[in-house]
Amino acid sequence: MKTRFSVALVLLVFVSNPAFAHESRPLILEHANVINPVDDVPLLDQTIVLQAGKIQNISSTPATMPGERMDLRGAWVLPGLIDAHVHVTNIAAARRMLSCGITTGRSMFAWNYADVGLRTLHERGDVDIPNILAAGYPVLANLVRFKPDMTAIVLDHPLLDDLRSLDRIGPDGARRIVRANADRHVDWIKVFANERAGILETDPSTRNLNDEELRAAVEEATRLGLPVAAHAYSDEGVAAAVNAGVRTIEHGSLITEPTLELMRERGTYFVPTLYGFSVALTSDSPPEERALQPRIEMLLKGSLQAIAMARRLGVPVVAGTDTGYEDKEPLVIDEIIQLASAGLSNLEAIRSATSLSAECLKISSAKGALKPGFDADLVAYKDNPLKDLAVLREPILVINGGKVFLYKSPL
Ligand SMILES: [Zn+2]
Repeated sequence: MKTRFSVALVLLVFVSNPAFAHESRPLILEHANVINPVDDVPLLDQTIVLQAGKIQNISSTPATMPGERMDLRGAWVLPGLIDAHVHVTNIAAARRMLSCGITTGRSMFAWNYADVGLRTLHERGDVDIPNILAAGYPVLANLVRFKPDMTAIVLDHPLLDDLRSLDRIGPDGARRIVRANADRHVDWIKVFANERAGILETDPSTRNLNDEELRAAVEEATRLGLPVAAHAYSDEGVAAAVNAGVRTIEHGSLITEPTLELMRERGTYFVPTLYGFSVALTSDSPPEERALQPRIEMLLKGSLQAIAMARRLGVPVVAGTDTGYEDKEPLVIDEIIQLASAGLSNLEAIRSATSLSAECLKISSAKGALKPGFDADLVAYKDNPLKDLAVLREPILVINGGKVFLYKSPL
């Protein structure tokens, strides 16, 4: 055995023992090429020392201290990838995320606070669960008419039961839904400025929450210290959400230049979820998907224009997939590759899922870069992903909070 690790050993030791979080013996990664996305140039042949879940040191000098050593033989190391828009609601999907090198995901809705549950498992040191930023239930105008039916929130919060009978939740209802989520310790609040695009029953250019409800939700979230993400498609819906003070626009396919300028002024981030619009029909696509195709093509065209404009105007574009990491669903790697084909450089596309995403999600003091003191969330590849982004599809090493989740020999 050329290294001191093998897949069997790693999985046996680490996965079977979630309490391994307390391990304090250093893990020393030798001969690593380090791509720190905040820098323009990779550092070659580095030694990375990880200890107690943090990056202790990155240096061109070999480490002499005792510890577990792993010879990466020139593999290329990135900070763990971040997906800013996921709907991961079970442990199998969370594990799939990690096995693709995605160590952080921002949930944008999960039934019964499954996202808070996953975050809790991660926090207690489970090696197979990525870091999840939870958003619980979204704020939307009518709980019953929404597809899917959102009255499940009442089962978690019986005191919200009266909202079921209202035609609109109104500003007061919006505040109450924000507070209910905050009581369950979410990290973000999600609001619907427009209707959904992915179902035939609703028109994504129609507003969902009105201006008053949007403002009330953002005010209440801000009072509670929670950032807000807005699902929005139409230019009017996006502008209303930005003016209300949201931090991110999700989808935003029909944004015009003046609204992007407003986003730049307000410091709003753009999460276009581009890959979702670019999935081609196949001969066995169901009839509903065929019926939606003209709409999806229109939104794809709009998204590509919006991304090009955002890049020109300096509005930050962040990678999010809008999927659940169920079997065969797209990965943030698909989104990174798609963003590069929409005009971002390879390094910019990688930043959209690492350093820039961390900044957007307010976790950039600990994640999204490779620096001493940062969380030891790392992913390594045999070849250089800056040269070919397809390399991102084959991680050979995934380290989650200092613990090895996946390891394949770099040889
Ligand atoms: Zn979504």
